[in-house]
Amino acid sequence: MGEQIPVALTFLGAAGTVTGSRFLVERASRRLLVDCGLYQGGRAWRRRNWAPFPVPPETIDDVVLSHCHLDHCGYLPVLVRDGFDGPVRLSAGTAALAGIVLRDSGHLHERDAEVARTAGWSRHDPPLPLYTVADAERAVERFMPVGFDADVDLGDDVAIRLVRAGHVLGSASVLVTAGTSRVLFSGDLGRPHHPVLRPRPAPPAARTVVIESTYGDREHPVTSRPHAAFADAVRRTVDRGGSVLVPAFAVDRTELVLHALSTMMRAGEIPVVPVFVDSPMALAALDVYRGPAAAGEMRADTPLRVDLPSLHAARTPEESMALNSPERPCIIVSASGMASGGRVVHHLRHLLPDRRHCVVLTGYQAVGTRGRALLDGARELKMMGRYVPVRAEVVEDEEFSVHADASELVAWLRQMPEPPETVYVVHGEPGAAESLAERIRGEIGCVAVVPRLEERVLVD
Ligand SMILES: [Zn+2]
Ligand SMILES: [Zn+2]
Repeated sequence: MGEQIPVALTFLGAAGTVTGSRFLVERASRRLLVDCGLYQGGRAWRRRNWAPFPVPPETIDDVVLSHCHLDHCGYLPVLVRDGFDGPVRLSAGTAALAGIVLRDSGHLHERDAEVARTAGWSRHDPPLPLYTVADAERAVERFMPVGFDADVDLGDDVAIRLVRAGHVLGSASVLVTAGTSRVLFSGDLGRPHHPVLRPRPAPPAARTVVIESTYGDREHPVTSRPHAAFADAVRRTVDRGGSVLVPAFAVDRTELVLHALSTMMRAGEIPVVPVFVDSPMALAALDVYRGPAAAGEMRADTPLRVDLPSLHAARTPEESMALNSPERPCIIVSASGMASGGRVVHHLRHLLPDRRHCVVLTGYQAVGTRGRALLDGARELKMMGRYVPVRAEVVEDEEFSVHADASELVAWLRQMPEPPETVYVVHGEPGAAESLAERIRGEIGCVAVVPRLEERVLVD
């Protein structure tokens, strides 16, 4: 025990970009992969999903997942298909949600390949899905849920511990102990106050930290009236006879949007109009938030409250299509949150050309996504091979963010029992990562590095 065997850390993803979290920890012949995420966003990054994994998947002993978002778990079906056959450690909440997310992702990949085949616009001939629903099922079979706050021995003097991260249900920071080395991976960190999840605890001690930097160069606005921009947009839009489209990540975000709409309608801040949830995955995730996997993570003071007078679920594609010509104002909540795919795309195609309507963006919009283009004021948007004019109003509600801002990230590091010696800043656009690294050097006084993609370092 405790023998001095060097421990290496390799940044296989989320370096130079927000997505594709994959970090390899090696001690002697033991290999642990922390997160197994998909690249999303710009085409150059997405193309990396098709490249062979940098180390043979069969040589990896264990995978641990921080949470259920695709940029952290979405590559797992490929890893399993290509030879990984070890256990996947994750929290109970993440297991429940990632199962839903991965099956849906397999379905979308199959459907996209089919659409590309019939339309003839794929670069692959014949068009192949990145992975299938069956691949996703085989990945889910490897799940081995573990509890929070307890070390789980993986063998060969390597252990992991999950600590709640307050980002989405099940989300965790991951402490890896390998011999005498300790590395803490922040995962995606939530804000100190999440509307329905209990606050995250202080992080455990570690000499090396790998921290996310999604909002590494930004501070969330301080607001006096919660979701004022959202409420104002709903009122304006309904007044002019339009409908409101809310692209929302199916997991967590849809739950929080419904929670906020319920609160605003009850308070009389917005008119009572029908609300449609157009995402079967969001409805499944809502059940997880209300089920046993969420036990122990939910706040007691403000439990998830979804009690809209007129809530409708669109479960079938036909029900979804019917929402595209709303005869009277309504609110449509549909995935994906960055409009990079999913049912929200056909809603955008029908609603964007009409000035009466409004699109409310509810979270981080990665560079290269349609959501980011809308946020940046695009006048046309390409969807299903065609350009569509953007005439509808576009509003951003930053309060839905479930990522800590720059000050909150630094505060999390400050909460550690002892300051870390080295912090690697990942999971951010280059400017955000550099900006956070600079703050960490100044305010924590430790080494802060933005690693290069596939850079390998030794950790103490
Ligand atoms: Zn996340
Ligand atoms: Zn992430």
